[in-house]
Amino acid sequence: MTDSTTDQTAVVVITGASSGIGEATAQRFASSGARVFNLDRQPPANPAPGVIWRECDVTDPVMVRSVVEGIAAEKGRIDTAIANAGISTRHAFLEMKPEAIRRLLDINLFGVINLWQSAGRIMFEAGSGTLLATASTNGSAGYPWYSDYNASKAGVLALCRSVALELAPRVRTACVSPGYVLTPMQRSEYTDEMLAEVNEKIPMGRHSDPSEIAEAFFFLASENASFITGQQLVVDGGELAGGTASSFRTQ
Ligand code: NAD
Repeated sequence: MTDSTTDQTAVVVITGASSGIGEATAQRFASSGARVFNLDRQPPANPAPGVIWRECDVTDPVMVRSVVEGIAAEKGRIDTAIANAGISTRHAFLEMKPEAIRRLLDINLFGVINLWQSAGRIMFEAGSGTLLATASTNGSAGYPWYSDYNASKAGVLALCRSVALELAPRVRTACVSPGYVLTPMQRSEYTDEMLAEVNEKIPMGRHSDPSEIAEAFFFLASENASFITGQQLVVDGGELAGGTASSFRTQ
């Protein structure tokens, strides 16, 4: 039996890792030997070795706290917590329903707050840890049809800066801001024609693969990023550099 008080194996908690970016990121950490816990409301379609699923809805602060504290009690530590779960809906600002906006903010913004508070308390007391989140290029530039989503991601970036100041030097915070990533979320909202149109406007000429976003998280959690806090790492194939994809206005 492993003694959790002396076991130095890194413990990583990540939300929304049953699909897409989270799934690839959980697998990246697991392949490095970390113990990875996927907090998702749904089980993974393809369970990965080394990644343990715990049913959790990130909008419920009591549930998030209970799951996170249970993992910390079992493993004796939490080194990295990645708030990744998110949703997006393509809809016109003037047509948005208040319930839909609240639901999105509850998952995309409160979901980050819920995980960061629960894991942050444990890390702060332990004296070290890294709080990470998936923001988006949409938090830094305007994009039509996603104004509520964009506001949620700008909120995550603002949270990241302020929490960094409160928790330094014990706990670091950082966000990865992906541009267009080919995941189930993206696939469900775009037709083949829309995907091709976006690809043409991205300097790298394509969407990114979720594994490329996973590498950014792996770097930010590592000792190589020990002086990075309160910042975002943009992984967008050059999209924000030229403002090209932001002019995309297909109806
Ligand atoms: P995805 O739909 O493939 O995966 C999202 C996961 O989050 C799913 O497993 C889902 O079950 C889970 N989830 C949703 N609501 C939840 C809740 N209330 N509680 C627990 N789990 C919940 O999406 P993805 O494209 O991998 O997106 C992951 C993150 O990346 C999101 O925050 C998204 O905004 C962000 N992002 C995506 C892109 C992109 O192009 N795909 C670009 C920038 C940022």
